[in-house]
Amino acid sequence: MNKTITLPKDVVYLLDTLQKGGYEAYIVGGCVRDSILGRTPQDWDITTSALPEQTKALFPHTFDTGIQHGTITVVCHKTNYEITTYRIDGDYRDGRHPDSVAFTPNLEEDLLRRDFTMNAIAYHPEKGFQDPFHGQEDIAASCIRGVGAPAKRFQEDALRMLRCVRFAAQLGFSVEPDTYKALQENASLIEKISVERIHEELDKLWKAPFSEKLPLLLESGLLPHIDSLFAKRMAEKGERLIPLLKATPPLSLLRWTLVLQDYTEKEAKEFCKKLKFDNTSARNIQTLLRYLAKELPKTPYDVRKLAGELGIEMTNHLFLLWEILGHDVSFLRSLLEKILSDGDCLNLKSLAVNGQMLMDAGIPKGKEVGQILSLLLADVLENPSHNTEAYLMELVRAKKH
Ligand code: ATP
Ligand code: MG
Repeated sequence: MNKTITLPKDVVYLLDTLQKGGYEAYIVGGCVRDSILGRTPQDWDITTSALPEQTKALFPHTFDTGIQHGTITVVCHKTNYEITTYRIDGDYRDGRHPDSVAFTPNLEEDLLRRDFTMNAIAYHPEKGFQDPFHGQEDIAASCIRGVGAPAKRFQEDALRMLRCVRFAAQLGFSVEPDTYKALQENASLIEKISVERIHEELDKLWKAPFSEKLPLLLESGLLPHIDSLFAKRMAEKGERLIPLLKATPPLSLLRWTLVLQDYTEKEAKEFCKKLKFDNTSARNIQTLLRYLAKELPKTPYDVRKLAGELGIEMTNHLFLLWEILGHDVSFLRSLLEKILSDGDCLNLKSLAVNGQMLMDAGIPKGKEVGQILSLLLADVLENPSHNTEAYLMELVRAKKH
C-alpha cells in the first residue's frame, strides 16, 4: 500500500521542528488509521523520540497534559496537539494503568504498547509508514487485531475490550478470531474499569454508525459485567434496537434514551447514577422516558401544555423519538410550528398576568396565588387569545365573587 497522507500545515510544522531539533517524530494512532480510511481525523497525535522537556524547549506555547506519561500539549493557531515521547509501559498490576512508564528512543517499542494493529501505525511525509504489525493490511481487511498476544493485552488494560467493540461499531470492522476469543475469555475483567471510562465508551458505541455490531457487546460477555439488569434488557431487546439507533441522529441524549427505552423512570435514575451521568443528561433522559410512556398529545391544548412543560428542544426530541418508534407525528409537528409562529403563551413566564398583579388585586399572598395562576394558564393554553391582562383580571374578579 503506497498511500500518502495529507497533513495539516500545523502538523507539518510540528514534525519539521522536532526533526530540525534532532529528534524523530511521526503522526500516530487514530489520525493515521482514520486518514487511511478516508475519514477526517478528530485530532493529530504526534509521537517523538524527544523527551518532554526537549519538546517543550522547541515550542513557544506548550502546557503539561500528562507529563508523567510523556505527553506535552503544543498550542498552534489555537489548536492543541498532543506530542508524546516514545514510551514503554511497565507492568499493569491493576488491569487499568501501567505501574510505570519508561521512555525509549525506539519507535517500534512505542508502537508495541498500543492496543490494535490499526492504531499502531506511524507516518511521516518523507519516511512514509512505519507499520511493524501490518496494521494497514488489517485496515484493508476491515479487521481489528490486538498487538501481540491479545489475552495479555486485555489483562493489562481491560478497557481495550470495550474499545474493541466500540471501534467495530465505529468503523464497521470485524474482530479477528483470536482477539475475539481473548475478549470473551477475559470479559469479566471489565469490572476493574471505572464507570466513567465505561460510560464514555458506551456513549461512543451508541453513537457509532455501524449499530449492527452492537450484538458484540452481549455476545462478548462484557455486558453482564457492566450491569446485570442492563444486560438482561439488552438481551430482551435483541436486534430490534439496531434499526432504531440507525434512524436516530447521533446525539447522546437521544441514543441513550432509546437504549434505555424499556426502563422505568426509577430504573433509569438508578442506572444513570451508577454510570455517573451528569445531572442534566440524567434528568433529560428520565423526562423523555416519562413522556414516552404517556399517550401522544392530540389537541392544540395538549401540544401547548407539552411544549410549556418540556421546552421546544425537548418537545422536538420527543416527537422524533415517537416517530422513530413508529408513530405518525406530522400532525403534532405542524401544530407545534403553528403554535410557535402564532407566539402562543406556553407557560407562566409568558402569561399576561403574574403573581404580583394578583396580589395587587387583593388575592392574599400564598398558595392561592399559585393556584389561580395555574387556572389562568390552563385557560390560556386552551384559548391563546385570552392571554391579555384585561381578560384574565376580569376572570379573576369574576371567580372571586
Ligand atoms: P478516537 O480518538 O477516534 O477514539 P484513537 O485511536 O485516536 O481513537 P485515543 O484514545 O485518542 O484513540 O488514543 C490514541 C492512540 O493511543 C490510539 O490510537 C492507540 O494507539 C493508543 N491507545 C489509546 N488507548 C489505549 C489503550 N487503552 N491501550 C493501548 N493503546 C491505547
Ligand atoms: Mg484520538
